[in-house]
Amino acid sequence: KTFADSGLPGNVLECCKGFEKPSPIQSRAWPFLLDGRDLIGIAATGSGKTLAFGIPAVMHVLGKRKGKSSKGRNPLCLVLSPTRELAQQISDVMCDAGSTCGVESICLYGGTSKGPQISSLKSGIDIVIGTPGRIQDLIEMGVCCLKEVSFVVLDEADRMLDMGFEQIVRSILGQTCSVRQMVMFSATWPLPVHHLAQEFMDPNPVKV
Ligand code: AMP
Repeated sequence: KTFADSGLPGNVLECCKGFEKPSPIQSRAWPFLLDGRDLIGIAATGSGKTLAFGIPAVMHVLGKRKGKSSKGRNPLCLVLSPTRELAQQISDVMCDAGSTCGVESICLYGGTSKGPQISSLKSGIDIVIGTPGRIQDLIEMGVCCLKEVSFVVLDEADRMLDMGFEQIVRSILGQTCSVRQMVMFSATWPLPVHHLAQEFMDPNPVKV
């Protein structure tokens, strides 16, 4: 399949211009995610999974913001990652993908001062990428509002649970919009990940 087959707008596909064709995970995931389906992906890093969910996230924002003022906006998409390094990698990709279509992302992680993160949140943002601990902190401070988040990605879900983030992840998911699209990527599919999916996802998610 080619990029043209995806039907995605040219400005959104700018971030792919160095690539010959969509990776297998991208060409399989895009149609379902653009159609609003929940999706479970078993994929390793290096498969192109970031843009597999990243481009649909950008399209979700564009669809919701159409014709609306973007001032003081609350985030519409949330991507949770187990580590700061992965969050930053995802954020770099998302910032690039959104740059040609006016979709703004920020990365929220611990071990650094909250000030700039709070300022970005206050100025209005479309997509939040981050680690569970810092996001929960900012929610408790009342500066991160997830009530309009209707597209959620859990990346490396198995690692996130292994690292002890299960309760925080559940609490964060509980703050998002009850009508939401959800994507889970995991390298393995142990029981705790399975339970989380059962609890928070559509009963029949697409598996790729
Ligand atoms: P990821 O699995 O998202 O961490 O991506 C791994 C690497 O694949 C990154 O360096 C991407 O820039 C690259 N990549 C993403 N999509 C494609 C594609 N369609 N064709 C070739 N490389 C890609």
